[in-house]
Amino acid sequence: MKLFSFFVTSSLIISSLTLQEASAKTKVVAHRGFWNTENSAQNTLASFAKADSIGCFGSEIDVWLTTDDHLIVNHDKNFQGLFMETAPFEQIRSISLPNGEKIPTLDEYLAEVRKHPSTRLVLEMKSLTDYSREDVAASKISELLRKHGVLDRTDIIVFSLNAAMTFKKIFPTGVKIFYLDGDLSPKKIKKLGLSGIDYSVKVLKNHPEWVEQAHKQGIEVNVWTANTEEDMKYFIDLGVDYITTDHPDQLIKLLSEYKSSKDKKDKKVKKVSKK
Ligand code: MG
Repeated sequence: MKLFSFFVTSSLIISSLTLQEASAKTKVVAHRGFWNTENSAQNTLASFAKADSIGCFGSEIDVWLTTDDHLIVNHDKNFQGLFMETAPFEQIRSISLPNGEKIPTLDEYLAEVRKHPSTRLVLEMKSLTDYSREDVAASKISELLRKHGVLDRTDIIVFSLNAAMTFKKIFPTGVKIFYLDGDLSPKKIKKLGLSGIDYSVKVLKNHPEWVEQAHKQGIEVNVWTANTEEDMKYFIDLGVDYITTDHPDQLIKLLSEYKSSKDKKDKKVKKVSKK
């Protein structure tokens, strides 16, 4: 009987620790910044400052290269009637965002990032219509990251494999590059020398085994965009490294509740094991 209770207690401790470790290592990335709050808007300077103010691990942005070679921060390909890739910079610049900011240049954005050293920048370079434009964009982005001294806390994310490999050539080591498109297994990503997969909720729900496979390959897993509590819990339990969400405040709260409930369980298990 004593032996039986020893095994039950040990397995409870192990499974509880595994879950606690999983929750402890999941990091919060604010999708397009923390925009879902007062005086903020997607991809604005305010959204990065606000992500930092609530303690997000990282804050994501989207970057386009305009036809006249300006790097700007915005998500939509076609925004308020202007195509980011083909409209001249001055026209794009005239757009006002919901919190009153103008669409930021990447240069302005990185100056803001520099003010918040505890938050990581997750920079998505949008896919462009031709590879040569992607190569120009990747090179210009890299120059600016160097100029602002934020390379050591920036992760690059891309849908385009061409862009991924271009960044890999620019930064053979030292900068993490994640692939977003969801069509390559962790083994293939590892073979390409990339740092991880950054796949959608849908893709990773279809391939939950890719999380463990990625970790076995020594690469990381980010999931986007987990906005419901159900999805957040699912991916915390699955052990992903990062969750990208439009509700970073809710995810931070959930992770702390998760951790304290696991701590309580651990204490109970330890008490039982002492008896
Ligand atoms: Mg994005």
